Amino acid sequence: MRELTFFMPTRVVFGQDVVKKAGDGLALGRKALIVTGQTSARKSGALDDVLSVLTGDYVLFDRVENNPTGENCLEGAELAKKENCDYIIAIGGGSPLDAAKVMAVLAVNDKKPLELYGGWENQPLPIVAIPTTAGTGSEVTPYAVLTLHEEETKKGLGGPDLFPRVAYLDPKYTASLPRQVTIDTAVDALSHLVEGYLSNRATPASDFVALQGIAVWGATIPALRAGQFTMEDRENLLLASMLGGITIAQTGTTFVHALGYPLTYFHDYPHGRANGVFMASYLEYTNEHAPERVETVLELLDVPSLEAFRELMNELFADFVGKLHVGEERIRAYAEKAAQTRNVTYSRGTPTVDQLTKILKDNIL
Ligand code: NAP
Ligand code: ZN
Repeated sequence: MRELTFFMPTRVVFGQDVVKKAGDGLALGRKALIVTGQTSARKSGALDDVLSVLTGDYVLFDRVENNPTGENCLEGAELAKKENCDYIIAIGGGSPLDAAKVMAVLAVNDKKPLELYGGWENQPLPIVAIPTTAGTGSEVTPYAVLTLHEEETKKGLGGPDLFPRVAYLDPKYTASLPRQVTIDTAVDALSHLVEGYLSNRATPASDFVALQGIAVWGATIPALRAGQFTMEDRENLLLASMLGGITIAQTGTTFVHALGYPLTYFHDYPHGRANGVFMASYLEYTNEHAPERVETVLELLDVPSLEAFRELMNELFADFVGKLHVGEERIRAYAEKAAQTRNVTYSRGTPTVDQLTKILKDNIL
């Protein structure tokens, strides 16, 4: 008998001016900790919209770093405690959204960030999530990814109570994204959809979401190629990103994300681009295990072949992805670390260290 669970408790409100339309209903408590990065909440117009409807009290923490650390989150959590905040409004890309989740836990649990990988007791503060990138889908996932200097990598933590309570998605907040950040984050969304669909944890319910998302993403390929985006493209990308989040909330990610982390940690690749480097190899690898699924992905994207998919990725990252100057020993170490992650076991066929080393060499050396 088939076994299946599907859990997605976040209330999603998607459309034009949804924050303004929510009005005072945006508030989930008495006093909000508003969590943002340094500029995006203002540039996108989302912070102004929130402040225009919020009648209750709030305090602003606008110092979330890209790829946040536990210490960064601890700072925000201390502020939440000091100011007696009883809920969080997170505005920004995956970095502020993830950081807000960790703050929500730390504000009510007397723990160090690293200890959260072993779980927590008290229910985190409720979160309102407002994405300003179209990529991570963090507004509908139970995960937060932290940079761990102790382990020289990035690592996800999660729990069913980390899903934001409500997510407000307005494509206009992504209009201020520069061209390349739009592309990098869009590829992250594709990565979630495709990794989820090709994962060995895929279910008929997650497939339903992933397939819809891949088709919506496919419609944006001409815009991604041209580097110019209408509001309809922005809408499609944000929708695809949200569907990608719902997908990985069920399936998790695969070796693509595990191999991407060292590129971000050691070589400053933005998260989506770090995944994009390995996407073509992921399709080629999975073609050995589930060719009918790979064919479906290509069909939905309207990309004629695996070679054409590789060309598309190369084209989107033409200005950036050069070869890295790292020795073979270092490559092997990246592969060994990736092989220890859970993500790798979610890939069909569970690739070996040798296979991962080859995929790294093929794409970054
Ligand atoms: P990000 O790190 O949140 O933001 C990247 C850059 O874009 C920042 O400089 C940010 O500025 C800027 N930016 C964001 N929105 C903007 C806008 N509307 N206009 C202009 N600039 C804008 O990037 P991201 O790719 O969204 O998130 C990446 C993080 O999410 C990584 O840590 C990744 O591991 C994590 N992630 C989480 C999940 C999950 O399920 N939780 C899934 C995938 C990835 P500011 O610095 O001012 O904000
Ligand atoms: Zn991702």
